[in-house]
Amino acid sequence: MHNIDIDLVEMTLDVMKYAVDRITKTHPELGVPVKEEELKKLIGETITLNGIGGERAFEIWKDVLVKATVPIDHPRHLAFVPAAPTRASIMFDLVTSASSIHGAYWMEGAGGIFAENQAMEWLVSLTGMPTGAFGVFTSGGTAANLSAMVTARENWRKNDAFKNEKGLIITSVGAHSSIKAMAQVVDVDVLLVHSEDRLEGKDLKVAINGLTEQQRKRLFAVVGTGGTTNAGIVDDLEGIATICTKENIWFHVDAAYGGGALAADSVRHLFNGIEKADSVTIDPHKWLFSPYDCGAIIYRNPELAKKAHSQEGSYLDIFKDEGAHGFNPSEYQIQLTRRVRGLPLWFSLATHGTNKYKRAVERGIELANLTGQMIINNPDLELVREPSLSCVLFRRKGWKPKDYTNWTYTNHKQGFALVTPTKWKKNGSYETVARFCFINPHTQIDDVDKILKTMS
Ligand SMILES: *Cc1c(COP(=O)(O)O)cnc(C)c1O
Repeated sequence: MHNIDIDLVEMTLDVMKYAVDRITKTHPELGVPVKEEELKKLIGETITLNGIGGERAFEIWKDVLVKATVPIDHPRHLAFVPAAPTRASIMFDLVTSASSIHGAYWMEGAGGIFAENQAMEWLVSLTGMPTGAFGVFTSGGTAANLSAMVTARENWRKNDAFKNEKGLIITSVGAHSSIKAMAQVVDVDVLLVHSEDRLEGKDLKVAINGLTEQQRKRLFAVVGTGGTTNAGIVDDLEGIATICTKENIWFHVDAAYGGGALAADSVRHLFNGIEKADSVTIDPHKWLFSPYDCGAIIYRNPELAKKAHSQEGSYLDIFKDEGAHGFNPSEYQIQLTRRVRGLPLWFSLATHGTNKYKRAVERGIELANLTGQMIINNPDLELVREPSLSCVLFRRKGWKPKDYTNWTYTNHKQGFALVTPTKWKKNGSYETVARFCFINPHTQIDDVDKILKTMS
């Protein structure tokens, strides 16, 4: 029998109280930026030989550190891709941690992995991919894209003709930075198609026809984007799929941000063709209201992923033994030890039902369209393009790049909003413009109105 440490019990209750408070708050403080030297001065040394005690450390967290962070679910956080994890999912994130489950192998994590897989079945069903398609939860879209690229390349290299070739992938300029970064990790070249807006099948065809014979031999994958991070543009997935099938090239769809919109009837048609992909990335921690970190990679043929990702080691053999056998998430992506990061999504989906998810995603799209109308009606502002999915790009007439930067800093320093500029191509060069991305269904039109007023 362990001795019950009274201090520890009290600490546990304090932490739980904090968690409950935070989970029930829909308008947490936005937080203000603080320089490292300043934080150091405010908190002093925290790692010492004998420890400063949980009470003090927790005080430092509450009084100083958390106030220098931006809660991703703040309703006026419209920068980058914000997030809005459901209360149910956050509570279950705590439960996931408290349950101490190793989520790599069925032998240890069966119950947790089973639940995760139920959530995964729903994700797969959103894509419309054929029976047999399945996936795993990853640390995010970057890890998902990397896992898919490794699988695609290993599958391509099965053929002796390509054993010593450096691979080549084609994607669009609108593709996420992680595609280029992960191509470097995998050591393959990337050809960027400078499509005007969405990447069309015909653009891809022109790009392939323009390859040298040597390049064509090295081309093993095409990456389409299901909702560009910058503007919410969905590529012509149907057209790209047709060409990839004909040319026998792996078709990956990066829907890290936009994947949630597969649940929304109003825009689902934009994703037609995604069901023909060989692999699809979706980030539940973006538009499916999961806490960080939760990405997902889905494969048309998971066996190919297993061939590419299974790790060998005498200490791991038991996991693959008949007696311990089951679905091992570690065999389908790059990570071995992993938390059962799909569990919070599972609990929240089970709690609320999928219709509620559908409505919450539709609300983000609706907010983008309503904001578009407000911008059209405001003589100082101008839409750069029609809102796409939940992204709105617009300009403040007469503003220079430094005005947008000041706008960002002022709103952030006042703890009012996190809104940032981006760039958009105009007549061959890039223009600085404002951008909103809506995820949080608690964002009100009044929040948007107040933010727009900070531009007048
Ligand atoms: C956010 C994003 C990624 C990267 O995902 P992380 O979860 O941040 O690793 C990849 N692709 C697209 C389209 C994204 O929007």
